[in-house]
Amino acid sequence: KKDIVISTGLEVDFISGFEQNITSFLNTYGKYLDDSILSVHFLKFENDYTCIDFSKSTFTEFVERLGSPMAVYKLYYKTLIDSITSNLGDYKPRRIGHITLVHKFQHTLTEVVQDHEDIVNILKEIKHQQLELDVNTAGLAKPYCLEVYPPLPYIKFAKELEIPLVFGSDAHQAKDLHQFYNNISNLL
Ligand SMILES: [Zn+2]
Repeated sequence: KKDIVISTGLEVDFISGFEQNITSFLNTYGKYLDDSILSVHFLKFENDYTCIDFSKSTFTEFVERLGSPMAVYKLYYKTLIDSITSNLGDYKPRRIGHITLVHKFQHTLTEVVQDHEDIVNILKEIKHQQLELDVNTAGLAKPYCLEVYPPLPYIKFAKELEIPLVFGSDAHQAKDLHQFYNNISNLL
């Protein structure tokens, strides 16, 4: 207690079609939070939802279902834009999480998806909405990703736009805290 400050926070899911539920949740619990992140993991297609970062097979089956990797990427970035521009009330998280999570299984694909313009547009919208960017090193630990969310050139671009950058290791266990911080600390 005397050595460290512990803040209370949540990573809040943005799920298309559940905006009212998320707003009502935040209106109830937001006042207890010191910090929070808004992230997209679930994509809505037809009438169900797929957690695209859950596993390699979930991701590849979703690519097959939509017909191409590009279709999945486009749906991911569209949902992300919706999260950034959505209202969600006074307690909407100020920081957008791992904006290139759709790259988590990129090395299982047989093609490189051209999403440069999409990522640039995401960052411009984050700037426009005066939100912050989660600079998230967890992807470096994922064998089919091997890069930071977002990749380094986009962290530099975000910095040029003067978007506040906040490092996160996305640790799901204590040993992963601050993983790969030294890889990006010079950019922050
Ligand atoms: Zn997440």
